[in-house]
Formats: sequence, structure tokens, C-alpha cells
Amino acid sequence: MKKSFVARAVCLGTVCAAAAAVMPDLAQLQQMTARFAPVKLQYDESTLSPGDRNALHKLVDAARVINAIFMDQAWRGNRALYHQLERDTSPLGQARLHYFWLNKGPWSDLDGHAAFLPGVPERKPLGADFYPPDMTRQEFEAWVNKLPEADRQQAEGFFTVIRRAPGKSHSLTTVPYSREYHDDLRSAADLLRQAAADTSNASLKRYLNLRAEAFLSNDYYASDLAWMDLDAPLDITIGPYETYNDELFGYKAAFEAYITIRDDRETERLKSFAGHLQEIEDNLPLDAKYKNPKLGAAAPIRVVNEVYAAGDGAHGVRTAAFNLPNDERVVQQKGSKRVMLKNVQQAKFDVNLKPIAARVLPASAQGDLSFDAFFMHILAHELSHGIGPHQITVNGRVTSPRQELKELYSPIEEAKADVTGLFMLQYLFDHNEANPPANAMHLLYTTFLASAFRSLRFGLTEAHGKGMAMQFNYLTDKGAFVANPDGTFSVDYSKIKDAVRDLDHDLLTIEAEGNYAAAKDMLATYGVIRPPMQHAIDRLSSIPVDIDPVNESAR
Ligand code: ZN
Repeated sequence: MKKSFVARAVCLGTVCAAAAAVMPDLAQLQQMTARFAPVKLQYDESTLSPGDRNALHKLVDAARVINAIFMDQAWRGNRALYHQLERDTSPLGQARLHYFWLNKGPWSDLDGHAAFLPGVPERKPLGADFYPPDMTRQEFEAWVNKLPEADRQQAEGFFTVIRRAPGKSHSLTTVPYSREYHDDLRSAADLLRQAAADTSNASLKRYLNLRAEAFLSNDYYASDLAWMDLDAPLDITIGPYETYNDELFGYKAAFEAYITIRDDRETERLKSFAGHLQEIEDNLPLDAKYKNPKLGAAAPIRVVNEVYAAGDGAHGVRTAAFNLPNDERVVQQKGSKRVMLKNVQQAKFDVNLKPIAARVLPASAQGDLSFDAFFMHILAHELSHGIGPHQITVNGRVTSPRQELKELYSPIEEAKADVTGLFMLQYLFDHNEANPPANAMHLLYTTFLASAFRSLRFGLTEAHGKGMAMQFNYLTDKGAFVANPDGTFSVDYSKIKDAVRDLDHDLLTIEAEGNYAAAKDMLATYGVIRPPMQHAIDRLSSIPVDIDPVNESAR
């Protein structure tokens, strides 16, 4: 630990915590914590070779180091505060420690980053610890605009922090992560090298060695490329990635780690779906002139089970899937890879979707709720992003649905992926030689209906919620979803197939035509919460929001 908890850091920028601010008491903290249901994530170590098992334990240790770096990145008082809480054995102290660990800091992710501990800024600082606490946007911009191009790129880059130069000038200066977090990155690099020596998988060995080098050289390019080529029973993601924590500029990458084991069964299932993608594109409910006769290579998707997540990957609502890397140079050369965390999805299903289903489905349909159907639809959703219109022509211009639909693109594209996913699975049920179980349709649509309420619970401000309300109301108006007198909802299996086809046709056509007006109209008509839906949502308030993986307990 190289940082000390100096008094100056308690008061950051213009925001200082009022000493008198009322912080949650023990009962309130327990309620806030109960929104995260404790779960033990399930994974199978027995499929690993002895060498990989040794590597796994070293990689978990490396991920623990990442937790410490991330806490430093979020706020410079974090680590000292954490150790102070560890020493407080009172019930309130222990509750604070637990909630701190869930958020990896003293601000509550589910409550707009409001402080839940005294003596810290009331809100999480916008620039985290990536910039000097007293720096303004204007000061940064004025400084960076005067820098030579190469220095400007560094200052605005993913892997540097901005500090004040020592001495009188107090001017801004750029410090690479390799220097700022040197001691921790060196320990993490040592652990990666030891793990590389333990594994016999060549692609993993290569990735770990290059990543260890990157931690010390600050050049992540070669190791990002090696990550794209990683194909191993131990699937590892470790390093600085997402920039959401830099709310000032969105430049700086936060450290995270996902230590996972590949799920071979789902990997096989994905391959079999992917083998039918062109056939499904050819049969989409869309005018033939809009179809793509030759799909490009699909982006790789990996299905894994999480052993340990750390840092930016382990606070607030848990990541169930991610797309990386973000470095455009790597994406240009190799594309990007989607990683799906199956056991995290399973845990969310158990603590969240099961109790939702108990309230929104009639008793007779409870047996049709299925994790397998749920996960299969998630895979189909991801593959569906790769089919349908991508390059389109509007008034002779070559463009894309994203460019034409602008801010409406996200809800439309997410809904398109959901509905095309349903269409894809129904198509495979109807045409695949390998017969699906007789009740496959029931499991798929009933599970989809229940899972709609998962997104709807969080309102319409978010793309998924609005897109889901639109789908739900459209399917209801076609008679495929039915509101029962007792407040539950059912699927009408005689109507759902055609209704899904119609909805998919409408969404795909909006994208193919780049029709902004039609998208706007569709979202305005259907992207609303109607009374029966609102009554159902009101009955879900006590259900946990997310999970608290006990595997990762720091203590
Ligand atoms: Zn999606």
C-alpha cells in the first residue's frame, strides 16, 4: 500500500461531507444490503488439469490485488477507510464493512452513488481518483489543447492518471498506470507469470505472460490481441478496461478481473446455433431485398462460469456478460469477444426471476419456468445482434440502422435481438432434426414472459425497460400474452408464434428502412406501462435486486 489517508482527501473538489449528514443506521444498512441476496456461485474445478488448478489459485490471488487497485482508482481514501472498517467489530461497523465491500467504496451504487458512511464526499467524485480532486473540466481542456499530439493522446488515454506536478507551478501532468500503481501491478504481474508457468495451454500461457509485461510497460496492445486468441479451459480477463468510472471525461479505464472456467456444454450448443445462422437470416420475416445473402464471420462468444470477479467487475449490480476489448485498434484488427457468465446468470435467475415468476405467473404455469430456456434465449439474443439489417441504403445513401435511428437505436436493437432470438429458437424447434422436448415452446415463452418483468421493474428510462414494455404490449395486443383476472399473466400458445413473427417483421423492417419516424411511433405507442403491468410491478418491490457472491468474501 503506497497511499496514505491524508485529511485533505476527505474533502474533494467542492463537495465535502457535512459532518452532520445523516448516514444509514444499522437497520437501514441491513435493508440496503438485503437487496443483494447471498449466493454461492457454482463451478466445476474437476474438469481442469492439475496445472490449471494451480494456475487458478494464483489467478484468484492476482484478482485480489486488482480489488485493491480498483479501490485506489475509485477514491484515494478508499483503502485506508476499508482497513479502518475492518477493525470496527461493532454490528454497525461490520454492516458498514459488508456494504462497503458490495460497492467497493463508501457510495451506494443502487442509490445514485450517495454516501452511506460519514467523513466522505456526499457523492462519488465524478473524476474518481483519475484526476486531481481540485481540477475542473475547463482546466483539463485548456491544458490538454496546448499539448503536442502524442502527449495529448497520453493525457486522454485509457491507461494514465492526471496529477499535479510537484513544486510551485502545480501544473497538470500525465502519469502512466505502470508508475501510479507500480507496487500492486508488480505483484499482480508476478502472479500472472507463475500461473503462466503452471498451465500447459499455449494460448493462456501467452496471454498471461504478455499481460504481465503490459502491467509493467503500460502497453496493453499485444496482450489485448492475445486475449482475443485465448482458447483455454481457464478463461481469464484481467486488466484496465471500462471507462464508466471516469464520469468527468470517460477516458480512464478501471481495473477489473474475471477468473472463469469455460462451460463446454454451452460452448457446443452455441456452435450448433451458429451453424444455422445463415439459414435463419434467409428465413427472417423480412422482405427478401433486405436480407444478407452472405453473413460475415460472427464475433466470438464464450460461455464461462465465474470463480472470482474483482474490481470494476465486482461492485453493485453484477456483470452477467461483457464485450471487450474497447481499444479500437484491437477491434479493427481482431474484432471483439463476448463473454457470458453462465453461473452468474443462474444465480440471478434463482434469487430474482424465480420469486418474480411466483407472483406474475398462474400456479399452472410455474412448472414452465426454466433456467435452460432462459439461458438458451440469452445465447439466441446475442447471436441475433449479428443477423438482420446492418448496412442499409436510405435515399441512395449507404448507412446503418444505428446512424438513422439515433437515440432510438438501442431500445429498437435490444427488442429486435430479443424477438429475433425467440424467432430463431422457434425456427430451430420447427426445423432441427434433433427433436426438442415436447414442452420446449411452453418453457421458452413462459420463461420469457416472466423475465420481461425483470427489466420492467426498473422503469422505462433504460433502453431495456422501454424495449421490453414495447414487446410486452405488442404481444398482448395480438392476444399472445393474456392478463388474467387474478393479476397474473399467461401465454396463448395458439397465437404466440404468429405474434412473434409479426413483431419481428416490424422491428426488422424499421431497421432495414432506417425509419426513425416509425421507430418513434412504435416506442410511443407500445413503450409504456399499462395498469395491469403496473399492478404486477408493484407486487415485486420486496424481491432482491441482485446477488452477493459469497465466494468473493474478502474476509
Ligand atoms: Zn443485447
